[in-house]
Amino acid sequence: MTATVVGGGIGGLAAALALRRAGLTVTVLEAKQELVEAGAGLSLWPNAVHALGALGVADEVVARGAVMDSNLIQRWDGKILGRTNLDLERRYGAPGICVRRADLLAALHAALGSEGVHTGARVVKLQHTRRGAAAVMAGGGRVDADFLVGADGLHSVVRNALLGDEPRSLGSIAWRGLAKMRTNGGGLALGRGAHAGWLPVDGDYTYWFCCRDGDTGRRIGDLRTELLELFGRWWDPIPTLIQSTPSREILRHHVYDRPPAWSWGTERLTLLGDAAHPMSPAAGQGACLALEDAVVLASCITRRPDPAAALRLYEAERMPRAARMQRASLRALRALQPQSPAAQLARDLIMRLPAGLLSAGQSWMFEFPSRRRVRSRKTVLGS
Ligand SMILES: Cc1cc2nc3c(=O)[nH]c(=O)nc-3n(C[C@H](O)[C@H](O)[C@H](O)COP(=O)(O)OP(=O)(O)OC[C@H]3O[C@@H](n4cnc5c(N)ncnc54)[C@H](O)[C@@H]3O)c2cc1C
Repeated sequence: MTATVVGGGIGGLAAALALRRAGLTVTVLEAKQELVEAGAGLSLWPNAVHALGALGVADEVVARGAVMDSNLIQRWDGKILGRTNLDLERRYGAPGICVRRADLLAALHAALGSEGVHTGARVVKLQHTRRGAAAVMAGGGRVDADFLVGADGLHSVVRNALLGDEPRSLGSIAWRGLAKMRTNGGGLALGRGAHAGWLPVDGDYTYWFCCRDGDTGRRIGDLRTELLELFGRWWDPIPTLIQSTPSREILRHHVYDRPPAWSWGTERLTLLGDAAHPMSPAAGQGACLALEDAVVLASCITRRPDPAAALRLYEAERMPRAARMQRASLRALRALQPQSPAAQLARDLIMRLPAGLLSAGQSWMFEFPSRRRVRSRKTVLGS
């Protein structure tokens, strides 16, 4: 069987790897001239590490990142609200890690190899064919396959052809960077209408992010200057992390999601990753779910000989969890950065609850495969 994957980001490469491991001939069409992941670091929770285990790359990715073991929660002015020992590996059978995005993409690419991976291949049109689906590229080239997976991100052309809906702006701006600075454990800092966080990536570098409700409307000088205007008076380590990051390496994005979709596909077409379920970054689960999608897609293809039936099975298995995560991520963003003093006080009081209570009701996020389908909780690492 043959498959075309549109998009060579984390979701697209993971899907191609999973499908190839299932015995399919896969073509990846990536618009950029090379496979690159901007975006500094990434948190990969135990559900993602289990998915990486199923893809055969967990050991390598975990070795390149840093285990997320503790989390400090503080107010913008330094008042400590809580300190959590995450204890993820014991609870979920795999650690959570923070890794450079480029390292994750490189590990997926190395496992996949370069055969069938085409860069500079922007897909502009899709066609249903008698035997499957075709992708037409800018310049006129065309690739036919038994089915096609749109893993082309937030502004997906595949989704546009299928559903025609638009991403939704959540009214926040997010900045990210990698600072050459050592931090001892991760943390979250909470302010008025804003939050920020940091996670060690390895011994020398720390990934950090800042997020703020509302656009500044203008760029005050360079990005580092803009950020220091907004977060420079926050308690350390946030200002020092910003200071330690070259301005040209800081990323600034408007935050978007889409409401859960009523459909991800038809006939021999389907969606995966951000093309299917873009979500607010507040739960740090967008890429994690893309990795899960890849594993489930390949499993459905091996369970149903008819590609259209396999794609509908994949959608039925993935859509409820993705929708739940989209809604939870939006709630998390709103809860982390309220504007009113009363809502801030409520948030800060909630953050002072014992860690167990705070994380109660969140374990579903970190479980993959879902608890119902897990027979053994032993770690996937090394499997
Ligand atoms: C501020 C921020 C922080 C985040 N933090 C985390 C985190 O800590 N943990 C986490 O799990 N997730 C996080 N996410 C979410 C995560 O970045 C995304 O969910 C993930 O990158 C989605 O991967 P993807 O492959 O589906 O899409 P993308 O990464 O968008 O990849 C899509 C690919 O398709 C290509 N493409 C686009 N159009 C075409 C076309 N027409 N033809 C061919 N190719 C095309 C693009 O060039 C790109 O390479 C965060 C997001 C943001 C904004």
